[in-house]
Amino acid sequence: MKYDLNDHMVMVANCIPVKGYSRSIIYDLYRETFDFIPNDLYDILSKYNKRELTTVFGDTPKEFHHVLDEYFDFLLEKEYVLLTNRPDELACFPDLNLEWDAPATITNAIIDIRQPLFDQKDYSRFLKDLNDLGCTHLQVRFFPGYNHNMALRLFEFLNDLDMLCEVVIPYDTARPPGYYINLYQHYQKIHSITVFDFHQELDFFKKEDYRPFSQHVHFTSEAVTDQSHCGIISPAYFSVNIPMFTESLQFNSCLNRKVAVDQFGNIKNCPSLTKSYGQINSSSLKDIVKSDVFKECWTISKDKISICRMCEFRYMCTDCRAFVSDATDKPLKCRYNPITCEWT
Ligand code: SF4
Ligand code: SF4
Repeated sequence: MKYDLNDHMVMVANCIPVKGYSRSIIYDLYRETFDFIPNDLYDILSKYNKRELTTVFGDTPKEFHHVLDEYFDFLLEKEYVLLTNRPDELACFPDLNLEWDAPATITNAIIDIRQPLFDQKDYSRFLKDLNDLGCTHLQVRFFPGYNHNMALRLFEFLNDLDMLCEVVIPYDTARPPGYYINLYQHYQKIHSITVFDFHQELDFFKKEDYRPFSQHVHFTSEAVTDQSHCGIISPAYFSVNIPMFTESLQFNSCLNRKVAVDQFGNIKNCPSLTKSYGQINSSSLKDIVKSDVFKECWTISKDKISICRMCEFRYMCTDCRAFVSDATDKPLKCRYNPITCEWT
């Protein structure tokens, strides 16, 4: 035993236990990692935080004390708890502030583009409004049929705005793969490019000149033909950090402060949702985002979604409100069962 029973156990503020139906998780929001724990350890951490170890052991039948020893060895080794023999110091360990806010009316946006149905000036005006609303993260998804010159003009326009752009674009077999790396290098506001429908060997990333760009320019053989490819829930997309955790506690982890334009120019919460609030060439984005009805989905947190509300991943997992028949159904593309703890 590495501790004195008169010590007080203090949960480290950025290490937060979250209970699921069958198991719990300690989210380490500073190190951006997590560990599974049994639900009875979650109950101990919730009930005895900042209390003496002697109380925990006193409330637990003797035959289970060896289990408590194992739990505390684990918690101390992982630095999830610390021990103090100074009860007067307990006030020095305040809880983490779990409020979330952002200095922007809109924080992120998606624009889908296929046929050039609208003028460049319509997209430019929309982007300018987005910028005024404080948006810093834009995803532009080009689908087969898009006009490449118009895409270049759009990238040019972004140079004068404050947002970074993630580009999803089909591979054009008439161009060498290096063309897309040059695009990334040329336009300062492009943060990453995903080139889909690419069916060649990727050996050019072995070349010294190209290697530094492999973090920002991705090639995939997947064909992204429309917006229906979005919404996949996978551990590969989980994020354990303070912004994600605090936003997910109160808000929808995909749609909060998001605006989208679908391939037909409809302004929506997400390109895959059916409700349109106007068209890019004739509606005021600034008026749309003020309306209560547009903001309704922002507050559908994971705790309001059936199944998800009993899932231990619920504050690290991005949500998806498209493809569901009821606004509070579990995302259709999630294959996790929090009761059996299995992915199918
Ligand atoms: S709600 Fe679903 S489909 Fe829409 S942007 Fe979010 S993840 Fe994609
Ligand atoms: S059940 Fe819900 S919270 Fe859990 S992994 Fe699936 S979508 Fe995420």
